[in-house]
Amino acid sequence: MNLQHITKSIIVIFGATGDLAKRKLFPSLFNLYKSGRLTPEGFAVVGLARRDWKDDTLRDVVKHSIDDSENEEIINEFCSHFYYQPFDITEDQSYIMLNELLERLEYNYSIPGNRLFYMSVSPQFFGEIASSLKEYKLTQSNGWKRVIIEKPFGRNASTAEQLNDEIRQAFSEDEIYRIDHYLGKEMVQNIEVIRFANSIFEPLWNNQFIANVQITLSETLGVEDRGGYYDKSGAMRDMVQNHVMQIVSLLAMEPPIRLTPEEIREEKVKVLKALKPISRNEISDYFIRAQYSPGWIDGEEVTGYRSEKNVSPNTKTETYVAGKLLIENHRWKGVPFYLRTGKRMSSKSTKVVIEFKDLPLNLYSNVERKRVSNLLIINIQPDEGITIILNGKKMDIASKTKPVSLEYSNKIGSISNKPEAYERLIYSCIIGVATNFAHSDEVMLSWNYVDLILSAWENNETPLFEYQAGSMGPKAAEKMLAKEGFCWWPI
Ligand code: NAP
Repeated sequence: MNLQHITKSIIVIFGATGDLAKRKLFPSLFNLYKSGRLTPEGFAVVGLARRDWKDDTLRDVVKHSIDDSENEEIINEFCSHFYYQPFDITEDQSYIMLNELLERLEYNYSIPGNRLFYMSVSPQFFGEIASSLKEYKLTQSNGWKRVIIEKPFGRNASTAEQLNDEIRQAFSEDEIYRIDHYLGKEMVQNIEVIRFANSIFEPLWNNQFIANVQITLSETLGVEDRGGYYDKSGAMRDMVQNHVMQIVSLLAMEPPIRLTPEEIREEKVKVLKALKPISRNEISDYFIRAQYSPGWIDGEEVTGYRSEKNVSPNTKTETYVAGKLLIENHRWKGVPFYLRTGKRMSSKSTKVVIEFKDLPLNLYSNVERKRVSNLLIINIQPDEGITIILNGKKMDIASKTKPVSLEYSNKIGSISNKPEAYERLIYSCIIGVATNFAHSDEVMLSWNYVDLILSAWENNETPLFEYQAGSMGPKAAEKMLAKEGFCWWPI
């Protein structure tokens, strides 16, 4: 069977009138079409939501979601593949009509029953959609069937487990693609290559040579108009449980035997299983939570979190988390993996810094050396690339060193807002490659780890710090590293 036959499919988007569809999904599908990975003969998209739209309304929205410098003829051809059906998730009749529409389109486009269901709706509907798809036999076509599920995947281990059970009534684990868009980012996918294709790094990738690892996911934005959602979630659920844990497992996993989704997942799961459990009374030694207070971002005064729209004025939800993970295995015993993530921080950046240990005997210790060296920095966004900071000789001054930086950059700054992560992930799902999606084992282990911390926070067992908007977080996060002889590297 050739690739074109496999990729021939209908993409069904639940929540086609929503924000994610417009900002990410439609432009990503267009890029796949433009690059030939979706072929004109081989795809149709069905948009579903309650609004009383027509095919043309959806096509118009799709058209406006695409960069208008693109060729109009190509855009129009692309949009002609979109169909809209008014649809209520809670109504049986909607599913019966959807099945009829899918069968008709499969016939018209000669699509061999391949169906990709994209759940771009509130998580409360995921389970209901899955069981209705099964009940009305929408999952019983002749081709493959797959489902993409947006985050958040549950709000703790028990709700995630329940969601897994509901979705598995209709889809098997290998048909479930839990999206974590960080796994679609170029440099996150590059972590494997940096580690496993370079003999200069892999021999050093362990507790003999690495002092600590720092992972920063910082945003300058506040909660914007998503205060209602965010206030029920917080930084731990929104960023740490999923994105940070995925990055940690890619950084720390053992080399897989082969680069198959199963082998890679097995190694990632082992990392999560090796996380050193922390007891309830140790939480404040390992994790810090904070909220932003009013401050300045890019010269503009911004409000504090408690004054944001749709946020309770007494809220205890954290907008910042810093933490330390310890991985109890031979490779990593004793190496802290520090993480920090927050909103309204001084810069927008996703970065991993690997700090190598000092040499046993540093011949240059008496000269000006600020320890900004022996760092490998993986820049994930907005810059993409790698920086290595080494010691070099200071010109003309004997025995003095200065940090020198070797940089490799993908130089894509100006196009970094393009939805390339979603594009990669949707295509991976269409061709059935699940490597860059979160498996239920990973999701559950990660929830099991953070649940205890969240429950202690909900009971107010540890302090809730403040940090000024436009800063890099509370002093407590600096102290956490300082007491172990480290500092956060500037981002
Ligand atoms: P949204 O803008 O609120 O859109 C929700 C969609 O669901 C709308 O199309 C709405 O359309 C539809 N809907 C609501 N109730 C329905 C019902 N009973 N039957 C059928 N359709 C219904 O949400 P979003 O921001 O696009 O987010 C969608 C999903 O992606 C959520 O799970 C979210 O957590 C996740 N996500 C979003 C982002 C983002 O940047 N937006 C990022 C990461 C994850 P009608 O009102 O017309 O029915």
